[in-house]
Amino acid sequence: MFRLLLLALLAIVVYRLVRGARSARPVGGPPRHRALPEQRMVRCDHCGVFVPEREAVTDGEHRYCSPPHRDAGPSRGRGG
Ligand SMILES: [Zn+2]
Repeated sequence: MFRLLLLALLAIVVYRLVRGARSARPVGGPPRHRALPEQRMVRCDHCGVFVPEREAVTDGEHRYCSPPHRDAGPSRGRGG
């Protein structure tokens, strides 16, 4: 029974070694971020949630996360 486990473990190790050798990373560079550097986040003037600028709904100088919040307009204080 243990032999089977050992074989499975060995297979996993070999598999990872082969995969690791194929996708060798360059040494010395900083890790790459998935987010684009030009991706700016803007704050919804109604609910305050942050959304990517290109996905934000713009109304004049205000920005919103969705059309309903644009229609609702900027929030006026708490509990409004
Ligand atoms: Zn919102």
